[in-house]
Amino acid sequence: MTEAGVDLASARILVSNDDGINAPGIKLLAKIARALCREVWVVAPEREQSGASHSLTLDRPLRVRRLGARRYAVDGTPTDCVLLAVKVLMRDKRPTLMLSGVNAGANLGEDVTYSGTVAAAMEATLLDVPAIALSQHYADRRKIPWATAGAHAAEAIRRLTALRWPRDTLINVNFPAVPADAVAGIVVTRQGRRKIGEGVIERVDPRGRPYYWIGPMREESPDMPGTDLHAVTSGKVSVTPVCLDLTNSRAVAELERVFP
Ligand code: MN
Repeated sequence: MTEAGVDLASARILVSNDDGINAPGIKLLAKIARALCREVWVVAPEREQSGASHSLTLDRPLRVRRLGARRYAVDGTPTDCVLLAVKVLMRDKRPTLMLSGVNAGANLGEDVTYSGTVAAAMEATLLDVPAIALSQHYADRRKIPWATAGAHAAEAIRRLTALRWPRDTLINVNFPAVPADAVAGIVVTRQGRRKIGEGVIERVDPRGRPYYWIGPMREESPDMPGTDLHAVTSGKVSVTPVCLDLTNSRAVAELERVFP
């Protein structure tokens, strides 16, 4: 990490998500961003794209709908949104910071590779814009504790942007499913891992054909201290630096013995 990060006073923040432009989490994040800086752009998917990962739409044209000043909906994926925002909509004034979320539900452990929320931050990172993904964990989908992210996100963003983190790295932030005043601190973590559970529903449609619906596949196994899972289930805000280079460096050395 080096000294100078993002100067929030003069920042131009791009906000996107994977839950769609009308999701409560992106409205919250845009509000948080507007309290941090003067210029906030929202470019987000028309419809929910959770689980879209880092996909690009290549088989059809993309439509962009202007909803207001610096507010656009794209009929594509989170990655499409960030790409169009940086390369087209904001081409004359590139964002200096990208915020993704706040996602309805945590992005912990291997969620990172499925998540459209994290992927939007990945795309910004690839385009050389520092990016933070933010997600709110919940116990009951009907009672998501948005006030927790609302109370702690600005502080996390302020402290993170005081640094310039490595170029191929995004920051994955998760807020615990506890009331805002019960949060037990902010901790730096590494990506954890969960057990794969039983999540595929198998039924028969009204015409007698079987269908399948992928449900929650993961079981919490928060017993590894130092991980994002452990922090969030302990009531802490988790901050994980995620590297876009997926190479296993140790395995490179081992494989070089086989392919000298
Ligand atoms: Mn989502």
